[in-house]
Amino acid sequence: MSAKVVIIGAGHGGLQAAASLREEGFEGEIVLISEENDQPYQKPPLSKGYLQGKQSEEAILFRSPHFFQNHQIDLRLGVNIAQLDTVGQLVITQEGETIDYTHLILATGAANRKLTMEGAADVLYLRTLADAKAIAHRLETAHKVAIIGGGFIGLELAALAKEKGKEVSVIEAQSRLMERVLPAVISDVFQKTHEKNGVQVYLNTLTKAIDGQYIIISDGKKIEADLILAGIGVIPETSLAVEAGIACENGILVNEYQQTSVANIYAIGDCANHYNAFAQKRLRLESVQNAVDQAKTAVNHVLGKAQPYHAVPWFWTNQYHLKLQMAGISAGFDRYVLRGDIDTDKFSVYYFQKNRLIAVDSLNRPADHLNARKLLAAQLSPTEAQISDLNVNLNQLLT
Ligand SMILES: Cc1cc2nc3c(=O)[nH]c(=O)nc-3n(C[C@H](O)[C@H](O)[C@H](O)COP(=O)(O)OP(=O)(O)OC[C@H]3O[C@@H](n4cnc5c(N)ncnc54)[C@H](O)[C@@H]3O)c2cc1C
Repeated sequence: MSAKVVIIGAGHGGLQAAASLREEGFEGEIVLISEENDQPYQKPPLSKGYLQGKQSEEAILFRSPHFFQNHQIDLRLGVNIAQLDTVGQLVITQEGETIDYTHLILATGAANRKLTMEGAADVLYLRTLADAKAIAHRLETAHKVAIIGGGFIGLELAALAKEKGKEVSVIEAQSRLMERVLPAVISDVFQKTHEKNGVQVYLNTLTKAIDGQYIIISDGKKIEADLILAGIGVIPETSLAVEAGIACENGILVNEYQQTSVANIYAIGDCANHYNAFAQKRLRLESVQNAVDQAKTAVNHVLGKAQPYHAVPWFWTNQYHLKLQMAGISAGFDRYVLRGDIDTDKFSVYYFQKNRLIAVDSLNRPADHLNARKLLAAQLSPTEAQISDLNVNLNQLLT
């Protein structure tokens, strides 16, 4: 039987897997399946340029519709895979159609965590282009926008709603914005900037109930809103794998080649739980970089050119004039060193663990970010003096 790769999910990981297979010379059949009806598109612009009205729907497509035809990629839109038969090597659609494979790539991503309290039925979430269209429509007439969750997506939505002249509140359970991934020195800059722009930020605050146009928060106060958005984390899409008996634990467990517990089934991107050498533990990463690089890793394995996954993690967020770029994984740092000036919103934070550089967050310093990715990949750790001296070009360490 000639090789046939079926890919479930046409987001960042699935699309990259299909494109890389052809780029690397794969001559077998490729079937790329998406439950969404839209042509495959990029997600980061949804909470940035697209909802700001600066990028059109066409501008955020990964490839033109001709690409799939030209590269003989059988793209099937609006098809929901409901079941896997790992013994018969088949995927089964909700309608009962079967599609056979020699290799299967699960690129099913993650779904938004939803609020379950009474009154939450009208809350909107952002994950897909269809979600973004629904939010854009409601933003046209909304005056008071409340956002539950002060993480990346919630805050990007807050910034763009504010730029559209809305009255905006952000309700966050933790004591700082983006607390899970950022230290106070960066959270504080974002909080100040949001507040300077007129966003009302509620920290250490839980949403107790939603009563029509009011959110009732932990201290009993009522926040009025005619549009409520929530960004409170995601849950990996593992249901197909779980039901097929593939090992899962906070995502689909994969080895360094993205193989699941079934050798010819791979998982990549938001749904994959892998051992990350930079974090020195198993985790899932929710980022474009991770989805794209894991797609390439899986494809190399399918093509018999196996190379273990070892990519420096990186991520970014844009809010107002603040462009934050993150490289490495800062969790577990015991010390950090600053480069640049906090007061000008242009600085980088270099995180160390036992004198080893483990991550760098760069605010409006893109060159630092690019250097950081190279330093981390080369496992080089600059000294405190080198980092804090802006006259030292950290790039030199790489030569
Ligand atoms: C609004 C927003 C902004 C973001 N901003 C950034 C950013 O600035 N930087 C960054 O690095 N990352 C960002 N991310 C995260 C990034 O988009 C994800 O990490 C990335 O999309 C993961 O790629 P993936 O291929 O794993 O999953 P996805 O891109 O989510 O694709 C998964 C696809 O699988 C489909 N699917 C699932 N189950 C089935 C099934 N049974 N049958 C058929 N199809 C199925 C889903 O419908 C979906 O289309 C953002 C995400 C969102 C939602």
